[in-house]
Amino acid sequence: MRRDYVVRSEIKEFAFTKMLTCGSCGSGITAQEKFKNLKDGTVARYVYYGCTKSRNLNCKNGYTREEELIDQLIKIMDRINLNEIGIQYKFQEEMNRLAKFQKSFFKGSSGLENKPKNVNFRSYAKYLLKEGSVIEKRELLACVKSKLVLTKKILTLEK
Ligand SMILES: [Zn+2]
Repeated sequence: MRRDYVVRSEIKEFAFTKMLTCGSCGSGITAQEKFKNLKDGTVARYVYYGCTKSRNLNCKNGYTREEELIDQLIKIMDRINLNEIGIQYKFQEEMNRLAKFQKSFFKGSSGLENKPKNVNFRSYAKYLLKEGSVIEKRELLACVKSKLVLTKKILTLEK
């Protein structure tokens, strides 16, 4: 039954399933989505991450919203030792493309003082976390060598 649940969450392709470890019991972290009808007639989609409980059925690690995880990952990218991220060259071509785009964009605008910042890996990683596709986010996290551990809504790196 639990297996079925994991398979379904894979089909939905959440960004961070199987990328994180539960800090309470060492199981994997999986995702589920919830929909809420809003007053204006639209439907909001929320994604929550929680323990698969494969190692401990009574794990009380709780759930964390995807937005909170992304905020924490962005902070981690600010202070992570870049040696911790393998195969950065994998992203080099895309980073160059983004730098070119910024250059041509700023050339056309009147703000000549606003020279584009060089696109470095940290800012590119943060850009991917905010704007990237599910696949790009997964590729980025797959390059982080340390284990990403989620404990009661707090994400940490563990060697
Ligand atoms: Zn757990």
